[in-house]
Amino acid sequence: MTNLQILDGKALAEKMYINIKNQTENMNKKPCLAVILVGSDPASQVYVNNKKKSCEKAGVTSISIEFPENISEKEVLDKIEELNKDSSVTGMIVQVPLPKHISEEKVLYAIDPKKDMDGFHPRNLGEVYLGKDKEFLPPATPAGIVAMLEQNNIEIAGKEVVVVGRSNNVGKAVAMMLLNRNATVTVCHSKTQDLTFHTKRADIIIAAVGRPKFITGEMIKDGAVIVDVGIHRIANPDTSADKKFVLCGDVDFETVKDKVSAISPVPGGVGPMTVASLIQNTLRAFLSKEK
Ligand code: NAP
Repeated sequence: MTNLQILDGKALAEKMYINIKNQTENMNKKPCLAVILVGSDPASQVYVNNKKKSCEKAGVTSISIEFPENISEKEVLDKIEELNKDSSVTGMIVQVPLPKHISEEKVLYAIDPKKDMDGFHPRNLGEVYLGKDKEFLPPATPAGIVAMLEQNNIEIAGKEVVVVGRSNNVGKAVAMMLLNRNATVTVCHSKTQDLTFHTKRADIIIAAVGRPKFITGEMIKDGAVIVDVGIHRIANPDTSADKKFVLCGDVDFETVKDKVSAISPVPGGVGPMTVASLIQNTLRAFLSKEK
């Protein structure tokens, strides 16, 4: 494809922050996001810091709650309960993965759905199923994917969309949000027979497989649009380079780039859009509370 469109999530996220800041800067009281981190996983620390920096850009207050790895489940649940009741806190996120002795499900259910900025609570996912994601708090990654397509004027209605991956918070949820926008959606997973049969007829592919460079050029049709959700740190194929590791997605960019009409890069695609959607949810929750 000669006119390859890069779906630049980083640039779009920055625009979203400016837009949110325009709304927050004249507010006496700002939206406030509480970020809970348990343990010292380096990747989680990077994600949490990104979220805090993004809050700053958007004029949203963030507060950090950091617990040691050996904190009890009860203490985490008590903190969530305290934040649920704290009217100065708009919403919260609990960075995952959590240590094994803390149930992610219990933590998720403990968060007041109105304060669930990740949009993972069954109440918020249920609203997506009911076609009301625009009114409630949609899951952040699917919301980021939809915003990326819409803001790049990629038509969704009537298109054949193939979502590869069916996790609750990504694959299934994005499939439902695209169905709500009148796409014809096929969801594929590890038991799908002949995956290429499906991906080859897709106008839009959402790759949320969790496997590096899984979707290759021979699996897609000419002119397809691909949103690459995956993020992996792999050994640098260029062994002479200084950097020992590089990031890649679920899509083999090199083999698809000459066939696709548009693609989101990794890094700089869905990742920044996920964080921007989280902050967007915080603003939305704040405004709906003010009403
Ligand atoms: P997940 O929970 O591991 O789900 C992966 C899905 O892929 C499953 O539904 C699985 O099918 C399917 N799958 C695995 N192997 C397959 C195969 N050979 N053929 C077809 N389908 C296959 O992962 P996730 O949480 O949805 O995340 C997906 C990727 O996105 C990961 O790389 C993750 O790191 C990344 N991610 C990025 C962001 C971001 O902000 N950029 C946010 C969330 C996730 P089964 O259900 O049959 O097992």
